[in-house]
Amino acid sequence: MSTPELCGCTRQHHSLTHDALVDLITEEITAMLRDAGTSRRQPVAYPLYAAIPVGVSNRHIHLTPATFHRLFGEDTAFEVMRPLFQPGEFASQHVLTIVGPKLRSIPNVRILGPLRTYDQVEVSLTDAIFLGIDPPVANSGSLGKAAPLTLVGPKSSLYLDRCAIVANRHIHMTTKDAERFGVKNGDYCRVRVGGEKGTIFEHVLIRTNDSWKLQIHLDTDDANAANIRNDIDVEFLERM
Ligand SMILES: [Zn+2]
Repeated sequence: MSTPELCGCTRQHHSLTHDALVDLITEEITAMLRDAGTSRRQPVAYPLYAAIPVGVSNRHIHLTPATFHRLFGEDTAFEVMRPLFQPGEFASQHVLTIVGPKLRSIPNVRILGPLRTYDQVEVSLTDAIFLGIDPPVANSGSLGKAAPLTLVGPKSSLYLDRCAIVANRHIHMTTKDAERFGVKNGDYCRVRVGGEKGTIFEHVLIRTNDSWKLQIHLDTDDANAANIRNDIDVEFLERM
């Protein structure tokens, strides 16, 4: 009499010898462990349509070509170190030291490319407290109320009266993704993070561009608060 209920699966191993069965199970468990170990994202219970991959943004700098050459020298080329997740964006080979008004400084702050039409330093609130500045939470490029910092490069330094912001939480997506989520460029939404320090993030700005890949950008303070260590997904909840 056959006993398929022994393992509940439909595989053809009920006629295998005991040793062959043990080998097969060992093989399957090994494969499962290997898959779990190399999986890019932690498994989450979110419905697939709502899952948004997370990118954690460490402090970084955007510069104009003029400012870059002033700090690094006219003959220095702006060079790529490695591409970032968003197409066309990259970490450059160049870093600066940023100095606050109390002369407290943070070294090795990386410049991201491509070069832009404005100079901007994106810091976490923890960095801001250390530096002794009070930057606003702002969208990239909105520097009207930005805080002052001095940028120190290998060839010269430059005081910028309005350059430092704490970047808004934001999601990069295509217009097609935006339709799927029922939002448009400039809207704000809520997202949920799972796990032991799970939380809901509000005021997450929607930014659309058809060359972008779906990804939410959180700074290191937000990521650490929610215990986000690796690439994980968050769940889109609703438009605010
Ligand atoms: Zn971003």
